[in-house]
Amino acid sequence: MIASGGALWLLLGADLSWVWPLVLLPYLLRHLYFLAKLTRLIRRHHRLAPPFPGGLWGEVYRSIAQYQQRGRKGRKRQIRFTRRFREAANAVPDALVILDKQHRVDWANPTAATLMNVHWPQDSGRPFVDLLPHPDLKTFVEAGDDVRPIEIAPNHNRATMLSLRITPFGERKRQRLIVGRDITKIYHLNMIRRDFVANASHELRTPLTVIAGFLENLMDAPATPLNHRRPLVLMHNQAARMRSIIDDLLTLSRLEIHERPEEQGAVDVPEELHLILQEAQVLSNGRHRVETEIEDDLLLLANQPELRSAFSNLIFNAVKHTPEGTEIRIRWSWGTDGPELRVRDNGQGIGPEHLPRLTERFYRVDRARSRESGGTGLGLAIVKHVLNRHDARLLIASEVGQGSTFTCIFPGGRGISRESLERPSAPTTAAAT
Ligand code: ADP
Repeated sequence: MIASGGALWLLLGADLSWVWPLVLLPYLLRHLYFLAKLTRLIRRHHRLAPPFPGGLWGEVYRSIAQYQQRGRKGRKRQIRFTRRFREAANAVPDALVILDKQHRVDWANPTAATLMNVHWPQDSGRPFVDLLPHPDLKTFVEAGDDVRPIEIAPNHNRATMLSLRITPFGERKRQRLIVGRDITKIYHLNMIRRDFVANASHELRTPLTVIAGFLENLMDAPATPLNHRRPLVLMHNQAARMRSIIDDLLTLSRLEIHERPEEQGAVDVPEELHLILQEAQVLSNGRHRVETEIEDDLLLLANQPELRSAFSNLIFNAVKHTPEGTEIRIRWSWGTDGPELRVRDNGQGIGPEHLPRLTERFYRVDRARSRESGGTGLGLAIVKHVLNRHDARLLIASEVGQGSTFTCIFPGGRGISRESLERPSAPTTAAAT
């Protein structure tokens, strides 16, 4: 219409250039009006609703209205999801705390107030270790080791026992989710069980020593009738077996009392292995072939009696639980992650169904055979405990008909090179390579 109007004036030949602004002005004003209206509506977060203007502005209004509607639906969904998450987190009987990258409280559920002394939102932004003081907690939070929980009796309620688990998450896993569980009942039951086993074993030890002593005397006495000797030998053997069980139970009880060995130092593992191997040769009585590969320079930061007990259990097992002619290979070396002891045999192997239960107390693959070979069923439980106390892992691989491999993997920081020890100024716990 504007174009046809302009053409008409031109045809008429007049100088009508001043008319153009007049014609364009309403057009521009209309656009400015809708633009200003739209800006105001958006700034005030108004909802765009029909009727919409015609033409291009109608299209723009309609698109923005659709976009607003999608946003509203998304927000509603998000609110519903957040509410449901909060309800679920509040219903959980465990305490949940989320820490930010600086390990300050970001969020916590209501149970965290009673169990961990973390009140949200009041404690938001406060360092977690200030709210639940404990000597091991700082290292625990910084390490973010999601495998090992720690057990603590919190200062604000010494009567409870808490098990804390930590999961690193978020950008570069710098945030932390801490889950706290009240294990007071289980802890006390465990203590009762542990004390009972320790006391019962201790009480049984002395009478058993007396019985074994008398049996020995009777066996050797010339006045003992010949037909009594065999039953006396059998009784003496059974008393010795009971004694081994009691000794292993006492060892396990001792290992359970403290989480970490009280005394640790540089253990000369090659020397220990030579001593254990001498005993193993006696036990084998020439029925096995034993091969060794021992890194003589590699020592270990550990508790010597505990280490001796764990290593001898693994090596004696390879002798006790394999048939004559078996080849046993023992290797002490620096593995992928740190020092490793590997005990491999090509005996009858262990079925896959038994492997997850092997370290349970009194679990035996073949009960009768294990008893015959003098096993107590507690050896691998002792090994597992000792390794846990040294931050180490036990890997068991076995195949029926092929043999078994038991590997103890220690953290690199526990490796010590003999050479560094012998140098007077050298640090005693330098990692070997
Ligand atoms: P035990 O006192 O019977 O040796 P352990 O806890 O040391 O008890 O071992 C548990 C069971 O694992 C044993 O009874 C045996 O059946 C099985 N076992 C352990 N080591 C081996 C091995 N090298 N080869 C075959 N079986 C084994």
